[in-house]
Amino acid sequence: MLEVIFLGTGGIMPTRERNVPAIALRYNGEILLFDAGEGTVRQMNTAGLSPMKVDKIFITHFHGDHYLGLAALIQTMNLWNRERPLHIYGPKYTFEFVQNFLKTGFFRPGFDIHIHELGESRLKFNGYEVWSFGVEHGVPALGYVFKERDKRGKFLPEKLARYGLSGGPVLGKLEREGRIEWKGRIIHLEDVTGPRRRGVKVAYTGDTRPTERVRLFSEGADLLIHDATYLSPEHRGDSYHSTVGEACEVARRCSAKLLALFHRAFRYSYEEYLEGARFHCGDVNFLVPRDFDVLTHRAGKFDVRNLLEDGG
Ligand SMILES: [Zn+2]
Ligand SMILES: [Zn+2]
Repeated sequence: MLEVIFLGTGGIMPTRERNVPAIALRYNGEILLFDAGEGTVRQMNTAGLSPMKVDKIFITHFHGDHYLGLAALIQTMNLWNRERPLHIYGPKYTFEFVQNFLKTGFFRPGFDIHIHELGESRLKFNGYEVWSFGVEHGVPALGYVFKERDKRGKFLPEKLARYGLSGGPVLGKLEREGRIEWKGRIIHLEDVTGPRRRGVKVAYTGDTRPTERVRLFSEGADLLIHDATYLSPEHRGDSYHSTVGEACEVARRCSAKLLALFHRAFRYSYEEYLEGARFHCGDVNFLVPRDFDVLTHRAGKFDVRNLLEDGG
């Protein structure tokens, strides 16, 4: 099961209600962290997420609102006697920037930190992949896609019966090896299973102007978390961010099932922004996430609840 936990949803600077960007993905007992703005340790504590379960942190870019919580996160891990290595992924210059802040204060990490600078990459892990791609933000910046690996179709009783199979260890062997010899016949896994089940896909743009690359990499996403800092092009000016209308257009074009309008500028109240989003988004299925919203993927769609409002 996949859960997306919004730890910080605001852009540029924290406010009373919203922290700066950090998104946790919980999958099979592991927590992947995408961005770690100032205060991420506190947000994780409030959400009941242990930093010790984080082995991979993906930074979109090195503007303060997206990474200033990283040093505190690493020191917290050290305080709790972490031994497992930590992997930090990010765009060009990640190595230099992370190394620099690791040298500050009376602190040296007691565990290995592996820093990976990415361009357009496809990283394969156990049960899922993380893709990275360049976005347009005026500095080296990446968007990321979490893609659960597709799963085999379910065993179909009527097809199993046709081959005289009813269950037991032989099905485990068929699953492992892809084919078996049974009662003088060769049976392939596809002969007795339904269509493959597509893994969940979540795309996160980080800060960016609308770009074709987001559309390409986010095609068919179950959830697209897109920069939507401003309600209008006049407010955006010449900054490298997107408006709500532009984020909606990208979501429409890549057939995203759900759009999370992310990195809302602190000038907008939730109500004002939501009203603007309703005006701009039309037929797009959208969400204006609040801090501590949890999106749980069940039966092909995301359900939303808020950790603070629902009592955890
Ligand atoms: Zn930002
Ligand atoms: Zn930025």
